[in-house]
Amino acid sequence: MDSTGGSIMDKQRTFTGKTLSLVIPCYNEEDVLPLLTERLENLRNDIDGEVEFVFVDDGSKDKTWDLLSEYTSNKAHADAFRLSRNFGHQTAVSAGLQQTTGDLVAVIDADLQDPPEIIPDMIRKWETGFDVVYAVRKNRKENFILKFCYFLFYRLLKKMANIDVPLDSGDFSLMDKKVVDQINAMPEHNRFIRGMRGWVGFKQTGHEYERDGRAAGKPKYNFKKLLELAMDGMISFSSLPLRIAGWLGVFAALFGFIYLLIELIKMFFFQTPPGGWASTIAIIIFFGGIQLIMLGILGQYVGRIFDEVKNRPHFIISENTREK
Ligand code: UDP
Ligand code: MG
Repeated sequence: MDSTGGSIMDKQRTFTGKTLSLVIPCYNEEDVLPLLTERLENLRNDIDGEVEFVFVDDGSKDKTWDLLSEYTSNKAHADAFRLSRNFGHQTAVSAGLQQTTGDLVAVIDADLQDPPEIIPDMIRKWETGFDVVYAVRKNRKENFILKFCYFLFYRLLKKMANIDVPLDSGDFSLMDKKVVDQINAMPEHNRFIRGMRGWVGFKQTGHEYERDGRAAGKPKYNFKKLLELAMDGMISFSSLPLRIAGWLGVFAALFGFIYLLIELIKMFFFQTPPGGWASTIAIIIFFGGIQLIMLGILGQYVGRIFDEVKNRPHFIISENTREK
């Protein structure tokens, strides 16, 4: 590590002489890799400082690993790590973050939806004193329904989460080493990187950009995976669903009590016997349903606690090109 700048110049940090590590998770990205590496090399030439590429192959079933090991074989500035199976995007990013050696770390998708070309601008923001510069999408070139889901998700998360997750920012970001060290030190298995990044704190700012469409290949997130990611975000960072369950219980009990009172009054003062078999069944089914939903929510938390207490390693690296 380099500590250029000295104490007098500390106010204005400079990247000169420092190293930038790029973390790139790849899952079945053989189609996009040639394009990706070309754009990354261009970036490397544009940057005044060292650049290190850390590719993580998240258990790809196509030629991704072969391409990566070939590409990195004769390059001191590029390393690839192969996970023993598909662990998921967030875990792949976590694995990459642990392998970085740079003073600055950028996380970037392999599909070029995150344009590497804006990283120099992000570095300039870091130089003005920010520790995290997260990229904020100006617009998405994705289908309408997906756009709407993202829109809803980020707004819901902001309302629910106990921490500030910046609107419309994904994992694409530039982080100071001290932030990365903190994220690496977090032991949780359910890793929601953008949330953890927000939780860490320090000085954070956004950087707007146009999100491109995927350069090649198919999206690796399907609706189910996106929903799981959304659930991870909500549940790992908020206990609001549990509180909602509690409040619904209070309202239901209150409703039941008032209803009972009304029936008693009707019986004793107006001699109307309680009736209504259909309404009884409806109410039983309704509250039975609510109870099951709430049990499901509780189950989400219990399941996550179960994952945490098992305390397994977050991922397994089966091969890497660093020891070459
Ligand atoms: N990815 C991964 N593991 C997975 C799914 C995706 O490492 O299980 C990587 C993928 O190769 C890409 C990034 O995560 O670099 C984002 O995936 P994708 O572009 O499919 O997601 P989307 O753009 O739809 O959010
Ligand atoms: Mg993508």
